[in-house]
Amino acid sequence: MRLILFGAPGVGKGTQAKILASRLNIPHISTGDILRQAVHDKTPLGIKAQKILSSGELVPDDIMIGIIRDTLQGKECRNGFILDGFPRTLAQAKAFEELLNELKIGNVYFVNLSADNEELVKRLTNRRTCRSCNSIFTLDEILGLQNCPRCGAENSFYQRNDDQEEVIRHRLKVYKDNTKPVLEFYEKLDKVISIKGTGKIEEITAGILRALESKAGNKITISAS
Ligand code: AMP
Repeated sequence: MRLILFGAPGVGKGTQAKILASRLNIPHISTGDILRQAVHDKTPLGIKAQKILSSGELVPDDIMIGIIRDTLQGKECRNGFILDGFPRTLAQAKAFEELLNELKIGNVYFVNLSADNEELVKRLTNRRTCRSCNSIFTLDEILGLQNCPRCGAENSFYQRNDDQEEVIRHRLKVYKDNTKPVLEFYEKLDKVISIKGTGKIEEITAGILRALESKAGNKITISAS
């Protein structure tokens, strides 16, 4: 199974991608996580990307396309992948389709998650991430906790510095300006599965899996949650 999870910052792509990766037994490729790791490790990519990430702007297309090209050619993506955060511009979408042709990879499903802007701002200002396992939590879920409930790491919660309200609003504008052409591009290819990103996490997962099953027929294997 090959899947693109598309949608605005905060809509739940990361949360759903982690669950789906485990249910479908395929890797979760988050371009945001790759970039944040590079910033953390101070690699040449990280040094270039740091300012862009904290301002909420987009990293140049050629860099992102290069990252995805390298990643898709890796062994871990042989049996499928879930892309979270890519493609984000029309140029990325077009380059991605060319790459799929070149690598002879067929059938990538495109899931568009949606929620309204004020809900997204609320979610993102309340979002905390575990530095050790990258799990995402709301402030309520970790209230009073010292250790990450997923991996047990101590004092590992942090707020992404692009999750400050001013930067969030800018990221949502950047998303809006770039998203329409990407959606239209995949609509023309008749690939879009639209799912509401509000409600219970497990219901959203179930909705995505149902839609994928009906599109892909019996070609997917889903593990129990
Ligand atoms: P995310 O974790 O997906 O919200 O991404 C965090 C930040 O990483 C974004 O605000 C961008 O600065 C950068 N980024 C992630 N994916 C891409 C992409 N496909 N194209 C350009 N910039 C990206």
